[in-house]
Amino acid sequence: MDKKDLIIVYGKDPKEMAKQVLAASKIEEMIGDKNRKIGLKPNLVVARPAEGGATTHPKMVAGAIEYLLEKGFKNLAVIEGSWVGDRTSEAFQACGYKDLHKKYGIELIDTQKDSYKLYDCKGVDINICDSAMEVDFMINMPVLKGHCQTNVTCALKNNKGVIPNKEKRKFHTMGLHKPIAHLNVIAKNDFILVDGICGDLNFEEGGNPVPMNRIIGATDPVLCDAYICDLMGYSLEDVPYIKFAESLGVGNADTSSANLIELNEAKGFEKTFSPGRKVERLSSLVIENDACSACYGSLIHALDRLDETGELRKIKKKISIGQGFKGKTGDIGIGICTKEFDNYVNGCPPKAIEIIEFLRKQI
Ligand code: SF4
Repeated sequence: MDKKDLIIVYGKDPKEMAKQVLAASKIEEMIGDKNRKIGLKPNLVVARPAEGGATTHPKMVAGAIEYLLEKGFKNLAVIEGSWVGDRTSEAFQACGYKDLHKKYGIELIDTQKDSYKLYDCKGVDINICDSAMEVDFMINMPVLKGHCQTNVTCALKNNKGVIPNKEKRKFHTMGLHKPIAHLNVIAKNDFILVDGICGDLNFEEGGNPVPMNRIIGATDPVLCDAYICDLMGYSLEDVPYIKFAESLGVGNADTSSANLIELNEAKGFEKTFSPGRKVERLSSLVIENDACSACYGSLIHALDRLDETGELRKIKKKISIGQGFKGKTGDIGIGICTKEFDNYVNGCPPKAIEIIEFLRKQI
C-alpha cells in the first residue's frame, strides 16, 4: 500500500468492512514476520458504547482481530488509556472489549497503569507508555469525530491514549496542537483503520452521533486527518496540529495528491438513525428521501460548519437529499441523485467541504 492511498469502504457491518480494508491493504505483507507483536489502539476515551459517537466500535476491532488471526498473527494486544476523568478498565467493560478478550483471548493493556519513558520528540520531551513502544506494528483505530477544542480528532490525536495521565494534563496546558504533532514523531502509526461508522458531531465524549457508515484505511496519519477535515468540512487552518505534524515530517497533508480507493458505493446504506437534538435542529432545513448515511452525514457536518460561522440562517430554501430525488427536478440538491435540480453539488457522496462551498454560493 502506498502512503498516498486511502482505502474506503461503506456499509453497516463494521466487522466485515474492517476485513475488506485490511485485505485490500495487504496488511499481512506490511507486518511481515508472524511472530511480531501487533498493537491495536482504539479510542476508548470514555466508558460509553460506540453508538454514542465517542468510542471505537468493538465489531471493527473484532474484524481486525479475526483477519489477523486468520493470517497467522497471534501476538496481538489492545492498548489504550481513557481520558483522565475515566478508568480504562471501565471503558474496556462498557465498550465491549472485555467480550473481545473472552472471545479471542486478546490481551487488554491499560496504559493508565503502564510504565513509561521520556522521549525527545523533535524538541519536545514527551513520556510515552512502554507497551505502545514495545509493539512491532501498531494499528491505530481512531473514531472520525469532532472535538470541542481541536475541531477534529482522528489518527494523530488518538495517540494521546499512549501517554500517561500526567502527560495528558501537560498537553492541555500546552494547548494540545503542538504536543499532539510532536508526539506523532515517535508514537507508532504503522497502519490506521478509521471507525467512521457514527462519530460525534462536535464532542470527543459523544452525545450527537452522525452516522457516516464508512471505514477508512491509511498508512499516513497526516493525510488521513487532512482527509477527515474534508469529510467534516474543516480547513487545515481549523486544525493546526495537522500542518504542525506535516512540518515535523510525520506525513503529507495534501489531499489533492491522495489516491482514493473506494471498495464499494455508498448507496444501499440508507439513513436509519434517530438524531440527537443538535442534529435534529440542523436537519430542519433538509428534505430527505432515501438518503444514504454517508451522504446525509456529510450534509450535517456541512450545516454545522455554516451554523458556526452564522451563515446557516442565511439559507432560506430547503435542501433536498436522497435517492428518492433521482430523475426529479427541484431547487437545491445534494449529491448525484439530485442532478436534475437547478442547483446541485456532485458526488456520491459529496464531502462536507464541497457541500459548504456549494451552499455558500446559494446564499
Ligand atoms: S448521491 Fe444519492 S446514492 Fe449517492 S450517497 Fe448521496 S443519496 Fe446515496
